[in-house]
Amino acid sequence: MSRYFSERYAELVPYTPGEQPQDMQYIKLNTNESPFPPSPGVAAAVAGECGRLQLYSDPESRLLTEKMAAQYGVKPEQVLMTNGSDETLNFAFMAFADEKRPLAFPDITYGFYPVIAQLNRIPYTEIPLTEDFRINPADYIACGKTVVLANPNAPTGTPLALSAIERIVASNPETVVIVDEAYVDFGGESAVGLVDCYDNLLVIGTFSKSRSMAGARIGYAIGNAALIRDLNTIKYSTNPYNVNRMSSAAGIAALEENDYYWDRCRIIAENRSYTDEQLRALGFEVLESCANFLFARRPGVDGGVLYRELKKRGILVRHFDKPRIADFLRISIGTRGQMECLIGTLKQILEERA
Ligand code: PMP
Repeated sequence: MSRYFSERYAELVPYTPGEQPQDMQYIKLNTNESPFPPSPGVAAAVAGECGRLQLYSDPESRLLTEKMAAQYGVKPEQVLMTNGSDETLNFAFMAFADEKRPLAFPDITYGFYPVIAQLNRIPYTEIPLTEDFRINPADYIACGKTVVLANPNAPTGTPLALSAIERIVASNPETVVIVDEAYVDFGGESAVGLVDCYDNLLVIGTFSKSRSMAGARIGYAIGNAALIRDLNTIKYSTNPYNVNRMSSAAGIAALEENDYYWDRCRIIAENRSYTDEQLRALGFEVLESCANFLFARRPGVDGGVLYRELKKRGILVRHFDKPRIADFLRISIGTRGQMECLIGTLKQILEERA
């Protein structure tokens, strides 16, 4: 820390993103990216935008917003496009949480939530998941806090029923319930269909996972038009041209090729079942997952050891050295070939240690 760094942030512990190593080619199963490239129309759309980069992007991202609205069955004024959903989360926390309406989210969830809360000096409560790593809806019913739930949750992958989400939203009319659906397309139930029924429901999503575009940084919020106006107040006070021209063109092209993406989601769900079965056969305990990753532990073998042994052999997975989950690995689902390689390598590691 330099002596110029604001005291306001002296205590801030920044988020640690998953490794993006440049030193060698790994089988990369550590940041829940898609193993598949974007759909064919995306490259041409991005290339077409290059000759216009001297111009600012449309601050309203109008075309992309309209296409999103049509796809999700809402009005354009109910959609905000952002620079990744991390930006949406920051806007939403700034807009809807403060000392009077502090945040509540699970103790085991997306690690960025507490960081954004700390950055904005918003008090928060971390509510423990149950013994079997599930969200207990009763913990959030009428809690009077700004609730943030990833559904499916990360890094566990476990889903929460839409009926439970609805009960939480209905019982907290004075605060916003933020549902982070980064992984919903891999088998979860979306709450987007409820946004016209509840003015305190904000659904957040991303093109980074099911739409194969983590590098384009496209996120979104869908909710009541008044909530979206509030988010725009924050957006126009921080970064008005938040979605760049190339990403906007990529997003529009992707929305015209939905079948491509839904096919890949189906393949990933199949590869998830395959990996789940194989891990169990190797003695792993695997949590139920509706996401593009599995959260698993092998009783008797330290998660950190497995992570390092896999990395030595060219496979990257994610290990969180945190209470309750230090035994677990979070394994992103890749191609069938990548998953076969993971299973073969784990078998080898376990045999060597036996
Ligand atoms: N929410 C959750 C639950 C995530 O796991 C991630 C990805 N790390 C994000 C949001 C952010 O994704 P992005 O900023 O790439 O849209």
